[in-house]
Amino acid sequence: MSAPAAPGASSIPSAPPSYEETLAFSSCYPPPVPGTVPGVWSGADAKGVNPPAYYPQPVPAPNPNAITVQTVYVQQPVSYFDRPVQMCCPSCNKMIVTHLSYNAGALTWLSCGSLCLLGCAAGCCFIPFCVDALQDVDHYCPNCKALLGTYKRL
Ligand SMILES: [Zn+2]
Repeated sequence: MSAPAAPGASSIPSAPPSYEETLAFSSCYPPPVPGTVPGVWSGADAKGVNPPAYYPQPVPAPNPNAITVQTVYVQQPVSYFDRPVQMCCPSCNKMIVTHLSYNAGALTWLSCGSLCLLGCAAGCCFIPFCVDALQDVDHYCPNCKALLGTYKRL
């Protein structure tokens, strides 16, 4: 007698709760899960992606500074002054220190003329030709005697 009662009793109570549970779960799950969750994540992603696109725009400002710094270091053309310059001679391709030779330049003649106008006619106007600081400087290679450059006062 127990055999027919067991399946009947077990089948009856099991059926109603299954429907209620399925209804309860089905009613609760579908609305919140697909609607809110994807929307929140998509919104967060969109907000996270947009700001970085705006940041790089104000960055280009330091570029001019970087260019000026590079030009300082990349000075390949040697700048000649009134001092010996250590460089690679373009003629003999050797590392040399330039030999200086002073020549009368524009500043030398201007100094001579101004001294003459001031009345220093008794040979004083030739003093600038003896003052290295008033003369142009020619840079020669001590190895091949090539003229590498000239430093002009004016
Ligand atoms: Zn040389």
